[in-house]
Amino acid sequence: MYQSFIGLEVHIHLLTKTKVFCNCLSAFGDEPNTHICPVCMGYPGALPSLNIDAMRIGCTVARSLNCRIPEKTWFERKQYFYPDMTKNYQISQFASPLGQEGYLDLDVQNGVKRIRIKECHLEEDAGKMIHSGAVSLLDYNRAGVSLLEIVTEPDMETGEEAELFIRRLRRMVRYLEASDGNMEEGSLRADANVSINFPGKGLGRKVEIKNLNSSRFVKLALNYEIARQGELLDAGKIVVQETRLWNENRDETAPMRTKENAQDYRYFPEPDLPVFVPDAAFLKAVEDSLVELPQARIRRVIAEYGLGEEQAEIICDEKAGADYFEEAVSQAVSLGLEKRDAAERISHWFLSEIRHILAREGIPIQKVGGFTLTPLRLAALTALIVKGAVSTKNAKQTLEAVIAEDRNPEVIIAERGWERITDPAAIAGAINAVLAAESDIIDHIRAAIAANNPKRRHTLTAYLVGKVLAATGGRADPKIAGTQVEALIEARGS
Ligand code: ADP
Ligand code: ZN
Ligand code: MG
Repeated sequence: MYQSFIGLEVHIHLLTKTKVFCNCLSAFGDEPNTHICPVCMGYPGALPSLNIDAMRIGCTVARSLNCRIPEKTWFERKQYFYPDMTKNYQISQFASPLGQEGYLDLDVQNGVKRIRIKECHLEEDAGKMIHSGAVSLLDYNRAGVSLLEIVTEPDMETGEEAELFIRRLRRMVRYLEASDGNMEEGSLRADANVSINFPGKGLGRKVEIKNLNSSRFVKLALNYEIARQGELLDAGKIVVQETRLWNENRDETAPMRTKENAQDYRYFPEPDLPVFVPDAAFLKAVEDSLVELPQARIRRVIAEYGLGEEQAEIICDEKAGADYFEEAVSQAVSLGLEKRDAAERISHWFLSEIRHILAREGIPIQKVGGFTLTPLRLAALTALIVKGAVSTKNAKQTLEAVIAEDRNPEVIIAERGWERITDPAAIAGAINAVLAAESDIIDHIRAAIAANNPKRRHTLTAYLVGKVLAATGGRADPKIAGTQVEALIEARGS
């Protein structure tokens, strides 16, 4: 067996309104070449200026990855030619990136595995090339969009770990509202580096797999590559250091080019941008942008509300969902419910009906804040169930009606006549109506008692109570109905 080493370079688009070195909008899906200017088109004499939002968001991600922000950070030019980059260099960071030496702890099977983060650096994205038949088209709307590159140390060992790293990173940047992390649209892209070696011999000769746009492809490509390199070593051959591409139709990697190294890029400090020295106000803005991160929140939600791990994972998958859940529980507590009871009921709603309805209506969970079923309305409905003021069946109908009509549950329940019937006289009336049609059932129950057959007695009683509930459209309070039926059985015996 060989030891394997995986390091990832993940690029994420930052959610800044404008590009990183000019004032063009960072908008996607618009008419090609409508968000461009002399700076992002690299015209001679055009000068870049740093978008401070990009720097702040980049530092916020870096801090969330436990990175150190250096006292000074600056930009370098990375030289290479490509038609999607008109300047012939990319402004990036090299010697002192904005975030250095952090880590992300992965929740793997037997505990946590710490993946060291080498650095986070800010750079500009390139334009987009569209190849269509014999022509290649260029759209520069993406040129100059702020990109944060997160580079790990080669601390992962399997495709599964790399996939988990990407999913955890994606969830984190979404929590921070630093990026939408949308891999299909290219807002999060990964290059995966992998080598294998004989145990104890340290790193092997690495192969880089470029431009993976799904976390599943990261896993598949890495596991494929680990196997391919293993076969080479088995056969006494060496692994060529190169860049490969994942072919998703053939489920294999194929060579793309032999990899250049840092010297080839002739990095040198960008003369048109000053060194950035984060001051106290900037650092405070970064700290103010930090949020409770998903892994910590999951642990807290489990401890504080007594939820199961799986429930907590789903509820905390998106910050908006976790905020919604906690707000609803807090409202239910103000309405007099016990916290853990409220949490259990609300998480149940959340994981079943609410998720189902959101999916049906095509509402993403991030929009749940503007959903007609507000946390307060959900709390109010839960309180009504706990009080026994509405049956479970009617509660579900109420939930649907609240969502469709954008009105409070109490109003809907009153208007539809869905309140639970607790008036003893009304329930007695319903029992009498049932008995009028099934007059001998009480006698059958008496006979079961006389025959010492508790099972039959129970079945018949439940049948009778069921009939009474059905006669009231499910609205009669089942406890009161049960008590009254028992009283009738007793009375018949004396
Ligand atoms: P390069 O100069 O080729 O860009 P870096 O040292 O910057 O290489 O590393 C790029 C990525 O490759 C990092 O994520 C790093 O962890 C990973 N890496 C470096 N060397 C190896 C290796 N021998 N095996 C696996 N991954 C490696
Ligand atoms: Zn521009
Ligand atoms: Mg590198």
